[in-house]
Amino acid sequence: MLDLLENLSKSLDEVYNATGVIDTLRDFFSKNFNICKFSIYIFDAEKNRLNDLLKEFNNTDLSDSNNSVNEKLEIFQKIKNKYLINNQNLYYVIQKQGKNIGLLEFENFKDNSILDFLNIASFIISLKIQNIILAETMQKNIDFHELIRNIAKIIETQYDLNYIIPLIGEMIDKFLTNHLTYIFIKSNNKFELLWPSRCNDENIIKNLEIITEKDKSLITANRKTGLFPLVNENRILGCIVTKSMGADITENDINYLEQIAKQSSATINRANVYAEILKHATLDALTGFYNRRQLEERIKQETAKAKRQKTPLCAIMIDIDFFKRINDQYGHAAGDLVLKTVSKTMRSQLREYDIAGRYGGEEFAILLPFTKTDEAVMVAERLRQAVENKIIDLSKVNQEIANKNINATISLGVYQFKTTDTPQNLLKKADEALYQAKETGRNKVVIKIDE
Ligand code: GH3
Ligand code: MG
Ligand code: MG
Repeated sequence: MLDLLENLSKSLDEVYNATGVIDTLRDFFSKNFNICKFSIYIFDAEKNRLNDLLKEFNNTDLSDSNNSVNEKLEIFQKIKNKYLINNQNLYYVIQKQGKNIGLLEFENFKDNSILDFLNIASFIISLKIQNIILAETMQKNIDFHELIRNIAKIIETQYDLNYIIPLIGEMIDKFLTNHLTYIFIKSNNKFELLWPSRCNDENIIKNLEIITEKDKSLITANRKTGLFPLVNENRILGCIVTKSMGADITENDINYLEQIAKQSSATINRANVYAEILKHATLDALTGFYNRRQLEERIKQETAKAKRQKTPLCAIMIDIDFFKRINDQYGHAAGDLVLKTVSKTMRSQLREYDIAGRYGGEEFAILLPFTKTDEAVMVAERLRQAVENKIIDLSKVNQEIANKNINATISLGVYQFKTTDTPQNLLKKADEALYQAKETGRNKVVIKIDE
């Protein structure tokens, strides 16, 4: 008997989590006492419930339905003197300072000597289980704090929600195993799913509509789905939704998720603010093109890339023709509208990776990576025609000149970068071609050919 006890004690010393303890005990009792099935239940005094130890920490629904756990609760409460035998099953309590805190279940037990053994061994088992519960709870808390810190830290490197949200989604997925996590972001008053790529659960979509900025969480009646709104200054930014694929969502998980939602809201809000500031710092407010400083930055990058990768790069300098007249004739607001319309018209003719910048007042520069002169000339000609054909309705900005539709035209200079060029003279050479276009009649494209 003492050998067995030492044996058990040694094996338990080597395991550190709930699964390990249960596996070890299962092995031990099956080898020494012919027990085929063994489980551990922990009593939750606050809720008057028995919880399967494995489910508690792994969140897996194994075999037991809630009903059979309830039956065990009755048995647990009936036990007066350490154990009870019911339908060939042996139930043995785990105690802490004389109080029953849990239940060991041995199915199909035949060998009465196990009772003598448990009489002395239950103390060791109980201590080990208490340690494991403490360790598992602590580990989960450590993981939780790590998660919260990581969500807070994202902002140091990222401000693009399309990048941030999947990052947060992946972290929550890792934290809550056996749950599906969805993250929705509200844009234009509608919830848009940003993580993962699909949600077929109609119920979730319906519940999203009823959640308010006052709610910390909304748990569905079956306790499998939880919605946690992302709120900042009384405004709903989005919602984290979690759906358990196993046991019911626990109070602990709800508590964790409410805090995760709070931290995520702060991170998302700061990302939004930061993105807005960055936009102002890099983009020209009127046209949405890169501002002069950012344009020069991009010229440095693109010329370096073209040299390194030996890929063609073209620049187009553009100036609106007789722009001063538009200002003088119709006013500054009309001039601004022309600038806006011309830039928008040009942008619609470009590829996504073409770089458009506002160089000065009504002058623009466009960089075309991976593009040789002949293609760049075609692009320039396309821009010229698109602007020429665009009707600009000035009545939008000046009621007094109702229905005054005008057309603007542009002149363009094209130049292909050479490896011997510096970043600075790329636009200078394109500008020389632009000057030629102005000199020779405007509303045209001129190519700068270097001798
Ligand atoms: P050209 O065909 O030779 O280019 O003639 P132009 O009248 O366009 O040439 P010029 O460079 O003399 O005039 C540019 C004008 O653009 C002068 C300035 O008042 C105006 N301008 C510069 N920036 C802005 C702006 O942000 N808004 C408006 N409305 N006008 C601007
Ligand atoms: Mg001009
Ligand atoms: Mg000008």
